[in-house]
Amino acid sequence: MSGRWWVAAGGLAAAGLLVLTVVVAGPLRAGGDQPPPEPPPSDQEPPQPETLESFRLGAPADCGTNPFCLDGLGRTYGIDVTELLVPMEPGEPIVTALREGTVEVGVLFTTDPLLAEEDLVVLDDDLGMLAAENVVPYSRAELIEQRGDGLRDALDRVSEVLTTEAVSRMVAELRAGTPADLAASQLIETLDLDTVEVEVERGDPIRIGAERFDEDVVIAHAYVAGLLTQGVDAAVVELDGFRALEVASLLDREIDVAIDYAGSLLEFLDGFASLASPDPKETVAALGELLAVADYELFAPSPATSANTFVVTAATAERYGLSALSDLVDAAPAAEATPPPGVRPEVTEPLVLLGDAALRVGDTGPAVLQLQELLQAAGYPPGPLNGIFEEPTRRAVAAFQTDAGLPPTGVAGPQTLAALEAAVAAAEETESETDGSGGTPPPDPEPAPDRPAPDGAVVHLTFDDGPNATYTPQVLDLLARYDAQAVFFAIGQQVSGGSALVQRATADGHRLGNHSWSHPSLAELSRPAFDQEIGRTQDAVQAATGRRPTCLRPPYGAMGSQTRSWAAEAGLEVVLWDIDPQDWARPGVDSIVRSVIDHVRPGDVVLFHDGGGNREQTVAALERILDQLSDRGFSFTIAPGC
Ligand SMILES: [Zn+2]
Repeated sequence: MSGRWWVAAGGLAAAGLLVLTVVVAGPLRAGGDQPPPEPPPSDQEPPQPETLESFRLGAPADCGTNPFCLDGLGRTYGIDVTELLVPMEPGEPIVTALREGTVEVGVLFTTDPLLAEEDLVVLDDDLGMLAAENVVPYSRAELIEQRGDGLRDALDRVSEVLTTEAVSRMVAELRAGTPADLAASQLIETLDLDTVEVEVERGDPIRIGAERFDEDVVIAHAYVAGLLTQGVDAAVVELDGFRALEVASLLDREIDVAIDYAGSLLEFLDGFASLASPDPKETVAALGELLAVADYELFAPSPATSANTFVVTAATAERYGLSALSDLVDAAPAAEATPPPGVRPEVTEPLVLLGDAALRVGDTGPAVLQLQELLQAAGYPPGPLNGIFEEPTRRAVAAFQTDAGLPPTGVAGPQTLAALEAAVAAAEETESETDGSGGTPPPDPEPAPDRPAPDGAVVHLTFDDGPNATYTPQVLDLLARYDAQAVFFAIGQQVSGGSALVQRATADGHRLGNHSWSHPSLAELSRPAFDQEIGRTQDAVQAATGRRPTCLRPPYGAMGSQTRSWAAEAGLEVVLWDIDPQDWARPGVDSIVRSVIDHVRPGDVVLFHDGGGNREQTVAALERILDQLSDRGFSFTIAPGC
């Protein structure tokens, strides 16, 4: 069989899941040394594949931050899918969108049972973007110090039996309506874990964090079931977010054990392009080393992998001759030049001192001193300026990382240093402005950030993704203090649990808006699904507050051609926003404040989030924003339409 006939099996055979064998006729895009296509073994010309001009990529929301999704496609394939990305709930919605043609390419996890569907073809990762993504638990090092090595052994025993196939089976049961704990304990019951003697110090249940997608939830439940079977008390803590939240929750001692995918976690923590490898041993070793310096312990990896797989329907593959990710290159914008794999991002002063390394506890020398001086200048005192990286410096680095929206590892790599330099430069700029030492005054920016507002000027504050037991009350307290009225675009399924909060918001003079029942992209929904998402939320808010919302904010701001008219039929006006400070991404309190203060004009609608993750930055920024805008004479009223 020659190179023009190909078999799309991808890495699935190795993962033990299933082998999708789809043979499609079409020329293989490859280097110029390919011989020209031979005529096919028939006297009819085969239909030539059409050219794929562009495509839409249906992917889980974390594709934007996953190093082996948006970033990886840029880095390895040189294509920029930012504008092509349609964020969707993982699994079925993506497959439905592929079949209905609302997206051409979809992302599923290796463990997704939907990969068994016969009309799906996995695009080969022909340039090797995907790293080893074995499922691996980790914890703070102190956990094992406190509870003993028996706990490590107990976790390792669960990891041993967790295969991709087992995870896929649990996901299938979860989707069929079996509760996650039941799906997990059915798997664990088939093992003989309860025959092993386990010695673990008594204490509170071991809390295992689960991110908000099916794979992570069932895997967390599998570890809990496995620990319980071995006589160790354990419980799942469901986190309302992805990787960043899980790392932060571990650091904040809200959970004891986090579970992640080795390659993605390594990239996420390190910020480098080169450490994660297709070889599981290399990836896990590098991850273990990185975690150890930050006082985390990595446990043994399981054989299960949960890599992203890029899929198209068989019809799309045939029509456009698609077999590999390289085949998408011509149909997407080129990514900005990025270093090839294996080369770390180029770093400028003062990072030159660092060479390849990141700075961490135990390091000494001029680079550490330089780091300490930067921390000091940015307002994060690192202890004595002595060129020795000890606990006070680690704490200062972690504090800065938290405020800058970086994973708070306490290890200073290129990302952290670049952010730190930027913070220092910004602080110096502000200083020279206020002491009047600058030369010619800069041109008057428009609108002027500190100019008094015209008489009667208003701003409309809005908060999405609540109600949230932690952050919504803090937002309500601040709004009350500044006599501000706002709109809360609530997620319907959170309303009944948060009814006291929405009642308080209503009593305080705020309005509730509709943000759908489960936060899907409305652009992808059929009419019945749309009506269900919107109608259930209307009913839930009415039941809690006695009042039906009159305005709708589509999740992600995503709308299809019918969204506005369907909303209107449900009595809802679509309300988007003028200013998006990206507070959900935790870019740092200063950044959120500046995004609003520097750009706000009378009548603007401002987007914030009081749910969906850690919102400490939002709360801190809101106080400063309310303070500064009140001083300038703005008042805060309900957005039109609500
Ligand atoms: Zn939202």
